[in-house]
Amino acid sequence: MLFIFNPKFNSAMTNFYKTIIAKAIALLLFSFNSSDLNPFINLSKNMVEIPVMDVNFYMMNRSDVDAATLGQIRENVRYLNEEFEQTIIFEVNHFFINEGHAYLPDLHKEYFGVEELTIDSLVENIEDQGSINIYIFDSYVIQEMNAELMGFTPIFRASHKDYADASPSFDRIFLAYSALEKKTTLVHEMGHFLGLDHPWEMSDINKDLMGLSEKSDISENHMAYGPSVDGFTSEQLERMQHFAKQFRAYLINRKEFVFQDVKVTNL
Ligand SMILES: [Zn+2]
Repeated sequence: MLFIFNPKFNSAMTNFYKTIIAKAIALLLFSFNSSDLNPFINLSKNMVEIPVMDVNFYMMNRSDVDAATLGQIRENVRYLNEEFEQTIIFEVNHFFINEGHAYLPDLHKEYFGVEELTIDSLVENIEDQGSINIYIFDSYVIQEMNAELMGFTPIFRASHKDYADASPSFDRIFLAYSALEKKTTLVHEMGHFLGLDHPWEMSDINKDLMGLSEKSDISENHMAYGPSVDGFTSEQLERMQHFAKQFRAYLINRKEFVFQDVKVTNL
């Protein structure tokens, strides 16, 4: 076989290879710049910002410190943080003991009509601003329902941006002393406080968006009622963190930065 040497072709090939080599060098430089020479670029991507919110507990209708109740409250906060999986961190700021007396179901009823709320006069001298205020009262069994009210959270149905102006009136969560045993009540109420609804109040589209498409997802979810609730979906956790940053930012005390495991891909 014979090759006929074509000088023109040769020069075209040389240029072609030159281009390839130049591209390879450019690629190599790019690759060094993006990762090997500057590892901090990858590290910063792993850093996650977590809002930290303070909570106060008000032990109402009590005159003495009760070590058992204090222990239960601490256990409730530990469980609350566990269930929020580091999307929000809750820290206890103050414990209050106060002799102000009311029953939880009566306070609940007042939120649906009465303009002068008993709670406002009960707490006017003790309520702290800048924290989530959790009031614990005694409760009783409501006969018609054959059920005891465990907790409730007054919220704005719309206009979430009004929370900051209304503070501290809508920074309240109400719990029954008997709800401290079953730690899921505080978690459920915190869900409402940070914008979550009960599954049965939601449209199918919203349920899908919150990862609640299946019946089993719902029955085990913290926003349902039932004996086996034990978790939020990742969509709900993300939603609550977003809600906290957007509408409850005035209650974010500080931010914590943690490194999370994120898969780093080098080009
Ligand atoms: Zn509820």
